[in-house]
Amino acid sequence: METLHRLSLRLIPVSLVGKCLTPTPLPPISRSFRMPMSKPEFITSNFSFIARKSISSSTVAKSGWLLGLGQKKRTSLQDIVKAGDPVLHEQAREVDPEEIGSETIQKIIDDMVKTMRMAPGVGLAAPQIGIPLRIIVLEDTKEYIGYAPKEETKAQDRRPFDLLVILNPKLKKKSNRTAFFFEGCLSVDGFRAVVERYLDVEVTGLSRYGQPIKVEASGWQARILQHECDHLDGTLYVDKMVPKTFRAVENLDLPLAEGCPKLGNR
Ligand SMILES: [Zn+2]
Repeated sequence: METLHRLSLRLIPVSLVGKCLTPTPLPPISRSFRMPMSKPEFITSNFSFIARKSISSSTVAKSGWLLGLGQKKRTSLQDIVKAGDPVLHEQAREVDPEEIGSETIQKIIDDMVKTMRMAPGVGLAAPQIGIPLRIIVLEDTKEYIGYAPKEETKAQDRRPFDLLVILNPKLKKKSNRTAFFFEGCLSVDGFRAVVERYLDVEVTGLSRYGQPIKVEASGWQARILQHECDHLDGTLYVDKMVPKTFRAVENLDLPLAEGCPKLGNR
């Protein structure tokens, strides 16, 4: 997801990794997994992975939420599951609370955080690394926000927040206020589109230690939460975008076509 106009450039969440998996005796998870991946860190003794073809890291970096930073760190990016892969278009399954403490789930969370930070990005959903589980991670920092023009971050109501790891998140809107801004997604590399999102949401779920958590968010953080939770339902921003605002990243600064909604809050 992303931001306003070029706000959008910096908003895209990251993703990565491949799909993998299969096998083994770890509970439910293994069966449904078909995770992609080629990252060694993802591999655990419980799963076997199938290597996926690599993706150009430069393209990936271009669509990062933080353009400048992405360019700088792009060499550390690995495979990102792209639109068209069924894992991005299907419902992810809940994490069984009893599995949360397992080495496998904890490793997946660690890898998601690492991947998000390497990209760098402000959000990541497990399906984006090929894992069909309802897990999201998000984080926004002063440093990241500093890469965007002040007027943009102000319009987006974008403020820093600490790392959040939410399992089995349930999102609900807390008001009817919405905002139109550009978003992007590493799984739909190189493009952006305007998406209308709620400005105030509440997300409940479990922490990485299995404790109930509740997050109340507004502005940009609320947008990130909606974007990431959508991934868990097999929904990409392109499924919700204002169609005629869809554009290549290099055209982000061009004016909106006649008839498109103006960017900003409603
Ligand atoms: Zn995304």
